[in-house]
Amino acid sequence: MAETPDEWKSAIDSTRPSIARAYDVVLNGKDNFEVDRAFVAEIVKVVPEIYDVATYNRQILGRGVRFLVEQGIRQFIDLGSGLPTVENTHQVAQRADPACKVVYVDNDPMVLAHGRALLAENDRTAVVTSDLRDPQAILGDAAVKRLLDLDRPVAVMLVGVLHHLHDDENPRGIVEAYMDAVPAGSYLFVTHFCASSPDSRDAEKKFLALLGTGRFRTEPEITAFFDGFELLEPGVVPLPLWRPDGPVPAELTVGQRLMYGGIARKN
Ligand code: SAM
Repeated sequence: MAETPDEWKSAIDSTRPSIARAYDVVLNGKDNFEVDRAFVAEIVKVVPEIYDVATYNRQILGRGVRFLVEQGIRQFIDLGSGLPTVENTHQVAQRADPACKVVYVDNDPMVLAHGRALLAENDRTAVVTSDLRDPQAILGDAAVKRLLDLDRPVAVMLVGVLHHLHDDENPRGIVEAYMDAVPAGSYLFVTHFCASSPDSRDAEKKFLALLGTGRFRTEPEITAFFDGFELLEPGVVPLPLWRPDGPVPAELTVGQRLMYGGIARKN
């Protein structure tokens, strides 16, 4: 695995779609290649609302971070943070309280190449370019140790990323490893692709065939990530229904049900 910024930059592969860059496409960003746009064009054929789905995910990320600050959280580890976009975790959190500290973790070299300057824009924010499937390496990382006090509550964020872990990679065990490392009073924040319609089955097939990852788990499977913690109201729900800022439609579209999310507290 690449170690230095130059190595990470040269590790960028423009011949295959990447998760981070494809997500950048659906957020109307500029840090993506033709191969990423072609992948998204394929997904649009089965889920025409995929651009809206990304927006719902960014919106719940903002609502969730604000909620966590309201609960007293001042430390965040944002695992699978993605390329910088608008309303990044540290911007939302530090607007609520400038003392908030945020460590971003992503394994896409593009995040390091394009994201470090923006995401690490103050001394309370850091970017770690590493694979979240190795919790011990991340928890032992110098930036994590410098910025986060693991004796005090932390929000462990796995927003829009656990579905990129295959079942045989033990995603539940990985979640547990992070939650074991943080004290009572910490929180787990997850959003996840959900097997909520026939279209989601078709989307899963395309993700797996073209990107290599993208597991659309059932609602009970997603809820199981929170086992052992106090799942807070309203539970694991379609993204637009999680503590909405305004009125929500009585009936949700396929896109509005394509991802579910929730927040739980470690007691
Ligand atoms: N969390 C952000 C959000 O919800 O807006 C970004 C979500 S984006 C869909 C998923 C991100 O997870 C991508 O940037 C991808 O590079 C990253 N990712 C996927 N697998 C990862 C892994 N094993 N370790 C670290 N990052 C990973």
